[in-house]
Amino acid sequence: MENVADFKEIVDAIKANGGEAFKLCFECGLCDVVCPWNRVGIFSMRKIVREAAFGLTDIESEDIWRCTTCGRCPQQCPRDVKQIESGVALRRIATEYGVFHTSARPIRTVRGSLMGEGNPMNEARKNRANWAEGLSVKAFAEGMEILYFPGCYLSYDPRLKKVARATATILNRAGVDFGILGAKENCCGESIRKTGDEEAFKRLARENIKTFIDHGVKKILVSSPHCYHTFKNEYPEFRVNFEVIHISQYLIELINAGRLEFTKEYGKKVTYHDPCYLGRHNGIYDEPREVLKKIPGLELIEMPESRIDSLCCGGGGGRIWMETQKGERFSDLRLEQAIGVGAEVLVTSCPYCIANFEDSRLTIDVADTLETKDIAEIIQEVI
Ligand code: SF4
Ligand code: SF4
Repeated sequence: MENVADFKEIVDAIKANGGEAFKLCFECGLCDVVCPWNRVGIFSMRKIVREAAFGLTDIESEDIWRCTTCGRCPQQCPRDVKQIESGVALRRIATEYGVFHTSARPIRTVRGSLMGEGNPMNEARKNRANWAEGLSVKAFAEGMEILYFPGCYLSYDPRLKKVARATATILNRAGVDFGILGAKENCCGESIRKTGDEEAFKRLARENIKTFIDHGVKKILVSSPHCYHTFKNEYPEFRVNFEVIHISQYLIELINAGRLEFTKEYGKKVTYHDPCYLGRHNGIYDEPREVLKKIPGLELIEMPESRIDSLCCGGGGGRIWMETQKGERFSDLRLEQAIGVGAEVLVTSCPYCIANFEDSRLTIDVADTLETKDIAEIIQEVI
C-alpha cells in the first residue's frame, strides 16, 4: 500500500493543493449522514478528512475518487471544511503521482482525448458540429446576440444530440440571433478539474477563452450546468467575464417575452430533477419549474429530495467517466423516487443526469414505465 505519509511534507502538499480546510473538522459526522453514497454502500467523507488532516491518506484507495461533488455535505458542515475543494486537493496529489485506482483509470484516456480532440469521448474534433446538420445553424460571428455552447455530450452522444437539436429548433423558432463554434469549441473543462487535473482544465479554459475573445463573444447560452458553473464561477479566475445563461433560464425569458407559443398540450405527469450544478451549486431552482408550469396539460409533481436536497444522479466530479458498480448507482434510486410519485416523465436539464437516468431505465428495467427528457425536448414537442 502506498501512503502519502511516505512522501515528505505531505500535509504541506495537501495545503498547497487547496486542502487546508481539512484541519477544521471536529468529526461531527454530519457529512456522512447526507452523503448519497451511504444509501448504496459505505463511504465516509469524515474519515477522508480526518486521515488527510494527519497526512495519512491512502492515495491508492477507491474512496478518494468516490465524491461526486454533489454539494450536499458542504451545506451541512458546521466547520466549513470545504469537502469538495479538499477532496479535489487529494485527487490532485494522486494525479501528480500518477496513482489511479482501477475505477479511476478511465480518466487517463479521457485526458488524452481532451488534449487531442477537445472532448472526453475520443470523437473527432472536425465532427463536433455534425449534430446540427439540416437545422440551419450558423457559425458564430462577431455581432451575433448569443453563442450557443452545447458542450461535449450534446455534440457527440447519440441520445444527447437530440437535446442540442431541440435547443437549436427552439432558438430558430423564437428568432434568436445565435451561432455555434463547432470544431473551434473545446470541452469546458469543469469535470476534468474535479478529477484533480488542474493542468488539463487550464489548457481547455485558456483555449476556450481565446476563442471567445477572438470571435467577439459576449453572451453564452449553455445546456449543461457543468459548462454554466465553470464559465460563470471558474473562468473569472482568468480575469474574464462573459454573460452566461442556462437554457432553463433562457426558455422562461423567451416564453415570457411571447417569443415562443405553445401549439400543443403535454398531457403527462412530470417530475423535475434538480441537477447538482444547476441547483445546489448555482441556486437555479425556479426557472425550470416555471417553464414546465407554463406548458398546457402538463402536471408537475415534486419528488422527495428536491431543490436544495436533490438526490445526485452520480455523474459529477468526473464520476461520469468512472465505473460505478451495479447496486451503487444513485440514478437507480432517483428513478424509483420518480416512479414512486406517479411520474410518467422524469425531466431534467443536464447531460450527465440524462446519461445516467437513461442507463438506469434499462438496468432496472423501467423503460416502459418512465421516460427521461431534457426540458428543451419537452418544449420542442409543444411549440
Ligand atoms: S459532496 Fe456529495 S458525494 Fe461528495 S462527500 Fe459530500 S455528500 Fe458525498
Ligand atoms: S460535517 Fe464537517 S466537521 Fe462534521 S465530520 Fe464532516 S467535515 Fe468534519
